[in-house]
Amino acid sequence: MSGHLQSENYSLRQQLESLLHEARRNEDKMRRFDQLQRQLIGADSLPELIRLLLSEYKLAFGVEFVALALVDHEYEITRILESECDKTDCGGLTLHPSTAPLEALYRGRTGPCLDTFDAAIHQALFDSAPGEIASVALLPLMRHGELIGSLHFGSADPGRYAAGCGTDFLERLTEIIAICLENALSQEQLKMLGMTDALTGVSNRRYFDHRCQIEVSQSRRQRRPLVCMLLDIDKFKRINDTYGHQTGDEALMSTASAIQSQLRAGDTLARFGGEEFVVLLPHTDMHSARQIAERIRCCIAEKELHAQNGEPINLTISIGLSLLPVDSHTAKNQALIERMLAAADKALYRAKHEGRNRVICDDSLPDEEARTTNRMQSITATLKQLPTAGLSMLKALKRTLALSK
Ligand code: GH3
Ligand code: MG
Ligand code: MG
Repeated sequence: MSGHLQSENYSLRQQLESLLHEARRNEDKMRRFDQLQRQLIGADSLPELIRLLLSEYKLAFGVEFVALALVDHEYEITRILESECDKTDCGGLTLHPSTAPLEALYRGRTGPCLDTFDAAIHQALFDSAPGEIASVALLPLMRHGELIGSLHFGSADPGRYAAGCGTDFLERLTEIIAICLENALSQEQLKMLGMTDALTGVSNRRYFDHRCQIEVSQSRRQRRPLVCMLLDIDKFKRINDTYGHQTGDEALMSTASAIQSQLRAGDTLARFGGEEFVVLLPHTDMHSARQIAERIRCCIAEKELHAQNGEPINLTISIGLSLLPVDSHTAKNQALIERMLAAADKALYRAKHEGRNRVICDDSLPDEEARTTNRMQSITATLKQLPTAGLSMLKALKRTLALSK
């Protein structure tokens, strides 16, 4: 074979090798892509999908920085994440109340944008130190012609996302992610509907049971107090019987919003059933919980309510409080939840028994403050109930007793 043919043969073999290498790389990339795609489609909740996007992609494709921005018009995603996961699980996620910041980023472009890192534009998108990223890929997530979010990849390699590189793979990925996000959000909306009380708009018992597990786990882990509050409208049957169910329903709605108005963002309010509500107050001791309960009680007693015929209605509520028991480190969450609810129910029963329209703290736990304030409230309530004549008789009796000593 002549020298010329030999060198041509060598060069062809080298080209073939390099093509085979490229084909193997693409095949491997497609395999990882298929695997990720299956995981994305199989994600059973929005938090899980977000977690996959922020962490699995990094691992599967060796990308140094991944960030996700989502449009959250009605703060719906914020609520879902607050109720389903620890916020710390979602590092790398930014929620925007409007599409404006993303529209400014893409300026009408609807496909993946590969670019050299420009700190003025890109630094705010990533949780990275200056100089760590050299090239970026920005993927606009669109559904029905609307931006619903944006996925950002950052690489230390300037050539990885150089302008002009092929974007077929990223385009396919972008479309799949946008569909998965839209589906996950619809699923969450359905879930939320199933967890909301249709009449009052607050959460229902099903949601409370789910939330209670999360709150109890967190309280035990962080060794912080958790208070449970059971609230029951006083003599509610009489309102229904006197003014009709429509007025009763309005009273329930008004009570729910009065309770909600006194709570913080992280507290949980749910309709426990009928005319009973339940509240969970994380990171709250009994003293502060009693103050919150008193505020709720006063707010309801002072609220102006009218029956359909215009008559004013006096509505009051009784409240029982209990603390999450901390005497056992081995007990199952469910057992502690049952004890906490039973203790709040017992306190509520006492509140009813002692005359209604009052707050009683469970004093089966070694909380001296709860015991003392209960006793004080009980004495004051008894004195208030005495007719003036009875009280002056008692005072006269006391004087007589003092004189006869
Ligand atoms: P107490 O002070 O002891 O709690 O007396 P109560 O009358 O509030 O308690 P009782 O359990 O006897 O009555 C509760 C009433 O609440 C009976 C039921 O008809 C009414 N109720 C429960 N759910 C609803 C509802 O969704 N709408 C209306 N209008 N009434 C309801
Ligand atoms: Mg009741
Ligand atoms: Mg009642």
